[in-house]
Amino acid sequence: MEAQTEFVLGTVCTVNLFEKGEPKVYQAVFTRLREIEDCMSANKADTDVDRINQNAGIAPVKVHDDVIQVLQKALYYAELTGGAFDPTVGPLVTLWGIGFDHPRVPAEEELREVLPLINWRDVLVDADAKTVYLSRSGMKIDLGAIAKGYAADEVSRIIREADINKAIIDLGGNVIVIGSKKKNVPWRVGIQHVSGIRGKYLGIMNVVNKTLVTSGVYERYFEQGGIHYHHILSTENGYPIDNDLLAVTVIADSSIDADALSTSLFALGYEKGYTLAASLSGVEALFVFNDAVLCGTPGVLGFELTDGRFRMRK
Ligand code: ADP
Ligand code: MG
Repeated sequence: MEAQTEFVLGTVCTVNLFEKGEPKVYQAVFTRLREIEDCMSANKADTDVDRINQNAGIAPVKVHDDVIQVLQKALYYAELTGGAFDPTVGPLVTLWGIGFDHPRVPAEEELREVLPLINWRDVLVDADAKTVYLSRSGMKIDLGAIAKGYAADEVSRIIREADINKAIIDLGGNVIVIGSKKKNVPWRVGIQHVSGIRGKYLGIMNVVNKTLVTSGVYERYFEQGGIHYHHILSTENGYPIDNDLLAVTVIADSSIDADALSTSLFALGYEKGYTLAASLSGVEALFVFNDAVLCGTPGVLGFELTDGRFRMRK
């Protein structure tokens, strides 16, 4: 059966099983993706995340194990990045409305009001009772920077459990390749061009059994007064992160880590981001700067740059 595509988790999800691609495996995969969306979406009524947010400052909420796992990982990265990555960014995401019908630039005063609500230390996860409590009213969690990574890992698990050793999972650019293209021939995965034009690549990464996740300024954004406002927000000043980066791609073994890290490294900026990536084993990162230069950790030097207007810096 050929590749299957559905719109889930707010994005286009494609799964391609290159062996034993039976309908029942595809069905299991997309059922699982919808299940994850139904617990983790912050924009749908009655999901676990929505109920956690509705009960901020009121009461702990019983949630699915998936949410506990993702939140614990999110809090881990929040601590690791000193809060640059923070799953309690929800009130800011809502204020900007980026990716929704009516995005707008909030007033300074509105930003000042919500910034104190953003603090991962105020998320209380009780893993035994399987409850989550946001300790202050008005707080909101948003798992948009990490949920797709978790979902991709879950798809990968289902596929491997079906004894399939050759597949590609692409959840809106959150990619996992299983196995290799042929014996001793790696998969060639295109890295999305920072122009944001779909299907246009900056270059190619050769990989076997890896996940690749990119965070960039072109993914969700709007323009106003000639200014480009994108969707990765500073937990310090409330504005879209403004540094010299256009995108960061993380290549790793687990997609939840790669997803959290791509957002984290972007938010930290190159200097701190590079140091963090280099300190983690099994993690490689490719940084794209706004002056058309790319650079990365040693493991990405095999990256094949295909757009001649960009250049690699060692
Ligand atoms: P994409 O949604 O394109 O896959 P990311 O994984 O980088 O990109 O996640 C960006 C999303 O994460 C935003 O749309 C928002 O929901 C959330 N977010 C924005 N800023 C932060 C932040 N500083 N920390 C954690 N999550 C964030
Ligand atoms: Mg991410």
